[in-house]
Amino acid sequence: MADSTIPDIIYTKVDEAPELASASFLPIIQKFAKAAGVSVGTKDISLAGRILATFPEALTEDQRQADDLAELGDLVKSPEANVIKLPNISASVPQLVAAVRELQNQGYALPDYPETPSTDAAKAVRAKYDTIKGSAVNPVLREGNSDRRAAKPVKSYAQNNPHRMGDWSEGSKTRVASMTSGDFRSNEASATLTDEATAKIVLVGKDGSETVLKDGLSYPAGTVVDATYMSAKALDAFLEEEIAKTKDEGTLFSLHLKATMMKVSDPIIFGHAVKAFLKPVFDKYGEDLKAAGVNPNSGLGDLLARVEDKPEIKAEIEAVMADRAPMYMVDSDRGITNLHVPSDVIIDASMPALIRAGGKGWGPDGKEHDANCVIPDNSYAPVYDETISYFKETGKLDPATAGTVQNIGLMAQKAEEYGSHPTTFEIPHDGSVRMVLGDGTVLHEHDVETGDIWRSASTRKAPIEDWVQLAIDRQKAEGCEAIFWLDETRAHDAELISYVKPILDAKGVADRFKIMAPREATRASLETIREGKTSIAITGNVLRDYLTDLFPILELATSAKMLSIVKLMNGGGLFETGAGGSAPKHVQQLVEQNHLRWDSLGEFCALGESLQFLADARNNEKARVLGKAVDAATQGILDNNRSPSRKVGEPDNRDSHYWFARYWAEALATQTEDTELAAHFGPIAKELTQKEEAILSELASAQGSPADLGGYYHTDPKKTEAVMRPSPTLNAIIG
Ligand code: NAP
Ligand code: MG
Repeated sequence: MADSTIPDIIYTKVDEAPELASASFLPIIQKFAKAAGVSVGTKDISLAGRILATFPEALTEDQRQADDLAELGDLVKSPEANVIKLPNISASVPQLVAAVRELQNQGYALPDYPETPSTDAAKAVRAKYDTIKGSAVNPVLREGNSDRRAAKPVKSYAQNNPHRMGDWSEGSKTRVASMTSGDFRSNEASATLTDEATAKIVLVGKDGSETVLKDGLSYPAGTVVDATYMSAKALDAFLEEEIAKTKDEGTLFSLHLKATMMKVSDPIIFGHAVKAFLKPVFDKYGEDLKAAGVNPNSGLGDLLARVEDKPEIKAEIEAVMADRAPMYMVDSDRGITNLHVPSDVIIDASMPALIRAGGKGWGPDGKEHDANCVIPDNSYAPVYDETISYFKETGKLDPATAGTVQNIGLMAQKAEEYGSHPTTFEIPHDGSVRMVLGDGTVLHEHDVETGDIWRSASTRKAPIEDWVQLAIDRQKAEGCEAIFWLDETRAHDAELISYVKPILDAKGVADRFKIMAPREATRASLETIREGKTSIAITGNVLRDYLTDLFPILELATSAKMLSIVKLMNGGGLFETGAGGSAPKHVQQLVEQNHLRWDSLGEFCALGESLQFLADARNNEKARVLGKAVDAATQGILDNNRSPSRKVGEPDNRDSHYWFARYWAEALATQTEDTELAAHFGPIAKELTQKEEAILSELASAQGSPADLGGYYHTDPKKTEAVMRPSPTLNAIIG
């Protein structure tokens, strides 16, 4: 029996562009669903919402907010779960600080984010804020493995309306630079636990002293446990060399990390790059910078703000920057460099964008240039390196004829590196890090030096088995090439292969699958899609993320259009909307010009799947009718080119929602499976059609001047509604 207090479907409240889109789209969903007796509730997983839920003691009774993320985290473990998950902000420190400041200015007496906590009280506040930082949402909700692909109509639309792709020339100087030793890839050790075990991580000093870095770990039998580290010295030497080479090669220096998801390791690596790039400044003014509270991990933007009143240091910075290779820019108009904010350049979005542009990035002069793409760790860098080599050799991909790479990703229960931040440490002094099991066995041991970044990641047996089964099911459904992107020479992957092979053999399907290292799998998949065929990439958690941006951006222009299904291990469904993020640039455009170019196609696809799931899971035939009509409406959006345009004055996100509502109502009015629903939606469809002109002109006249949302992270709902629902005629129909 369904728990009557849980809505049939939960739609998440998030941040930035997708949340703006929700202000327009969710009322439509709720109106239509209600007519079919389907309830659609919301849960707030926005950055501001999570901050407010974390500090009830600092807030007044009215200001307090329930911990919706924790509730959703429980829900996804129940078979009742049916959640539509929109992308949310994974906050870097500068974003978290900005969000806290905004909330404080709105009258929420939150504590400041303690940058360098010294007292116990400050440390406690910091620990609370740290739980909100980075990718704090997805790992909690993703209690299943992932199935991401372009829905058939979306793929054919992209083929019929191919987007522009930058040209590649053989002479392109763009390349990927990666460490060949001393990185996570080369230092990795991995073992599969035969029995369940507890573990602790200790740092043993040269003097024999023991520091417990982490205690109380526990793993079920069959867990694959990895440990590795990145040498700080090797990283610095590598960065210094690449900064020099970039200048010699005459390219842009660009650094590509994932400081949001890898929230402990990657801001540290980012900080090393900031220090390496400004080495002469740190050598000369290191003490002054420290005194000014500079933390290189927060980026050049923060550093510059802290030396605003120190002309000598500013001059030195300018001199060094002028002498270095030009930097790849986030926003050349505003002088925002690659090293300004750790979360501005995120590898899974930044590398595909650069590749799609023909290996070009924006330089400080506002023009496109070749770039040296610095990706320190070598675990996954070969994917980008091989893609670049392949396009240099063969020229750009043609989206009109290209096939598609689907993905089955191992993700459940914080699998692999993406679950490693609680077990990642910046090493305080030389010694050796040991991972010690409850019975005293030393599972892994590494000699480390001050500043090295050591981490352990784990992957549980049940998710691995579920992932292999999902791959078998998908391959059977598609009948196409299917490749496990696993490298037998890499410690972790070798353990996974020991799981994969016996399962494939036992099921008698080994001949339908290949196992290839990421570099070889990249080339094979590119060759396959070049021929117009489909390939299924069966990957771990990081490649799931990277590939479901890389291939969609090449094939469809954006990963926002992806179907992204998480089959929850306990029976529920989590439907992610697209494979991209929350598009901060889109908010900027809306605020300046009142035009929202966010494409809700991901939401449309997810809604269709969610209704279909509701129909199957609870025998809800009305939900089935509603879901089929959603698919028809999505098809209508594509067939009639109703997706948002990028430019102000042209139809935007809000127009696309009008069209979606109209096609949805028309499909419901004309279907014959449920006459009651048909009768209900007939007049709605008619009214939406008759009033087309009025609605479109009301929507159009809203555009062109700045829009006031009353906030960025914590917008004013009334103001947002006024901006996002500017058509009184449409509002009267939707209610
Ligand atoms: P992003 O938001 O995906 O943005 C990259 C670019 O992709 C956008 O600037 C936009 O290109 C395009 N794009 C993405 N979604 C789109 C849509 N629905 N319609 C049209 N264009 C779309 O990636 P990001 O800048 O790396 O990340 C931004 C934030 O999102 C970060 O806080 C990140 O952590 C978070 N994030 C969350 C999730 C998640 O919750 N699942 C996933 C990834 C990232 P144009 O500017 O050219 O229009
Ligand atoms: Mg991604």
